[in-house]
Amino acid sequence: MVLKTLIFQLMLILPVIKNIAQNTNSDEWNGHQCAVVLTYDDGLNVHLDKVIPLLDSVDFKATFYVPGNASALDNRLVEWAIASKTGHELGNHTLNHPCAGKSMGRPWVNPDYDLDDYSANKIIDEIKLANTLLKAIDGKSQRTFAYTCGDTQIGGDSFIPEIKNSFVAARSVGPSFEPLSTIDLYQIGAFMVNGESGSELISMVQQALDNKVLLVFLFHGVGGEHTINVSLEAHRQLIQFLKDKQSEIWVAPLVEIAHYVNNNQK
Ligand SMILES: [Zn+2]
Repeated sequence: MVLKTLIFQLMLILPVIKNIAQNTNSDEWNGHQCAVVLTYDDGLNVHLDKVIPLLDSVDFKATFYVPGNASALDNRLVEWAIASKTGHELGNHTLNHPCAGKSMGRPWVNPDYDLDDYSANKIIDEIKLANTLLKAIDGKSQRTFAYTCGDTQIGGDSFIPEIKNSFVAARSVGPSFEPLSTIDLYQIGAFMVNGESGSELISMVQQALDNKVLLVFLFHGVGGEHTINVSLEAHRQLIQFLKDKQSEIWVAPLVEIAHYVNNNQK
């Protein structure tokens, strides 16, 4: 009889314990259910003309991976500096945007900047110089890196260990929905957006919400300026959804979210 009562009491308590555990878990993203990072690659005019004004209008901050050779960097240096001052991250995307051409069957890679012809020291030096350039623009010494074309190797060897000390985190290419506990800060997956509709982008965020994970979007063109592109309308619908759900979704630059992951994984 005593045992029966004990079991009954336990049955009453168990759901409460489970609830507490779930509630704690659901707030693990800085008080939100999940985290979404908006990243924009290759330093395009449209990022300054369309994306940043839209994000600023809803007080969202994002990460812009601007390579040193982007013409929109040279032509509009002051505007990038202002974007950084208002909370956006200028991320490192090398100086010359080298990618593995020959080994990856990418005929469009500039032969002068084919990673297959780089030494490890050459790419590491280039990445460090890009940090100096960005620091001259925004005065910051902490930022994240994005592997050009997602490439992380020279001659079959990873150069990731050589750049870890220079960055808070690094973004690769390839979708992933990672829970906080298993994120590899130097290979953070990202979903490369190319032609998706607004509702398709929103359904990805919904998945991140359902699974309480980190989702990183990787944009290039937004309403044009790059062959990898998304329409202005689809992008606007995604931002509107994120705004409507801002009490549940943490939207911040990657450098900020990476700091948080680093502090909360230990
Ligand atoms: Zn790129």
